[in-house]
Amino acid sequence: PSGLVWFRRDLRANDQAALYRALTQCQEVHCAFVFDREIIDALPRADRRVEFIRESLVELDETLRTLSRHEQGGLIVLHAVASDAIPELANALGVQAVFANHDDEPQALERDRLVRTRLAAAGRAFHTFKDHTILERSEVLTQTGNPYSVFTPYKNAWLKKVDAFQLTGYPVERHAHRLAPRPQAHCQAVPTLARLGFEATALSQLNLPTGASGAQRLFNDFLGRIERYEDTRNFPAVKGPSYLSVHLRFGTISPRLLARTAHGLMLQGNRGAATWLSELIWRDFYFQILHHHPHVVGHSFKPAYDAIQWESGPEANTLFAAWCEGRTGYPLVDAAMAQINQTGYMHNRLRMVVASFLVKDLGIDWRWGEAYFATHLNDFDLAANNGGWQWASSSGCDAQPYFRIFNPVSQSEKFDPEGKFIRRYLPQLASLPTKALHAPWLARPLELQDAGVRLGDTYPLPVAEHDAARHRTLERYAVVKSAA
Ligand code: FAD
Repeated sequence: PSGLVWFRRDLRANDQAALYRALTQCQEVHCAFVFDREIIDALPRADRRVEFIRESLVELDETLRTLSRHEQGGLIVLHAVASDAIPELANALGVQAVFANHDDEPQALERDRLVRTRLAAAGRAFHTFKDHTILERSEVLTQTGNPYSVFTPYKNAWLKKVDAFQLTGYPVERHAHRLAPRPQAHCQAVPTLARLGFEATALSQLNLPTGASGAQRLFNDFLGRIERYEDTRNFPAVKGPSYLSVHLRFGTISPRLLARTAHGLMLQGNRGAATWLSELIWRDFYFQILHHHPHVVGHSFKPAYDAIQWESGPEANTLFAAWCEGRTGYPLVDAAMAQINQTGYMHNRLRMVVASFLVKDLGIDWRWGEAYFATHLNDFDLAANNGGWQWASSSGCDAQPYFRIFNPVSQSEKFDPEGKFIRRYLPQLASLPTKALHAPWLARPLELQDAGVRLGDTYPLPVAEHDAARHRTLERYAVVKSAA
């Protein structure tokens, strides 16, 4: 039999579950990726993610061609509505089955249902596999058979459940001779950005290597400092985290390789690796939350929190615009927003700070912030993004209690103590003494003058006063307390 592998969030040729299954079950295997018009038509015309995907596909195409040892081998790349294009391609190639990896986002599930029905109508099978997470769906349940909604017991159960099989890679290369040459009609190169209707972004200047080779480079670099992860991960000016999130998002690196390495190092007593493995477990945790509780898309995980009255109207719109554009007058918040706007990345500590600021200092609905992140993050992943926002707004599973409100100034003093990160993204404040940098409105007039800072002109005055905002937030959340 022959098969078609449909690549989605798994843009690599090594250790890829669907590719491995197809190669071991079929004599001849074709590979395809669709720039799905249902997703990309709605994106801004300059989108780093589209460029990241495109660059990564060029590498994947080359790798598949090398593995197949055919001049005409490689990836079929289409620009179409995937739910039409995949069944049509399967017909044109005459394959018996299509192979893909699970994608549990609600829209993807809907798309896959449609594809499955259309393939079945033509007598073709649609096989899907776990690939994107280590443990998924209902693989980790409580003793009573329910999904976990608190992280620590989930993590303990995850660690108990995980075994060598879950962490072992799929040896794709061994079977790669079954990769088929592309038919004449599909031999075109990966389409250019312009052909897809997109403009180039400054991706190449971002220090964000693409493709499986880029992911491997970042991982190798990270392994040199993983031991220090625990101590460095909270300081945005320090090269602490792995920066692999975009690669995990698009599957240019195998999550099994990452978890296996971290797990092995943890067993040797490496504290940093143990903490980093926890972060990978958070990733699985939020995927299973989305799987079991799809209402989190658009609604609070805890329904009582949907009764909260958020700010609305022109003033809220103005405050939201100030947050988006990094004009809140709180330097750490503004520097963080400059980071996401300029690079598409934001450090985890800062994601927590800016999310808390939007929800609890400005009183704005967490869903507005969630949507902004969804458009701007290179690593945007519905499950983790929703989980992060609901954590910050206290409406989620295992969220921080609503009365715990980050103080943006003390967060700044604690996690950017020398103001290095702020200076990097807010050059207009660079000459301020460090103490004044965290809260410029408290600086002495002479300090501001010497640093060339004119508040309300070269840098904004704060758009909200933290103590008053804190008070309003506690009142706003009172509906939750009375519902509890
Ligand atoms: P590292 O510290 O090196 O962590 C390794 C990997 O673990 C990450 O790449 C990521 O895949 C996973 N991970 C780490 N922290 C978390 C977490 N809290 N939840 C789930 N997975 C985690 N992460 C995304 O991948 N996509 C998002 O859209 C996203 N949105 C977020 C929104 C908010 C409000 C918050 C607070 C967090 C969000 N995160 C999101 C989680 C986290 O901030 C990023 O995964 C991390 O900053 C990525 O950087 P890194 O790869 O250097 O992380």
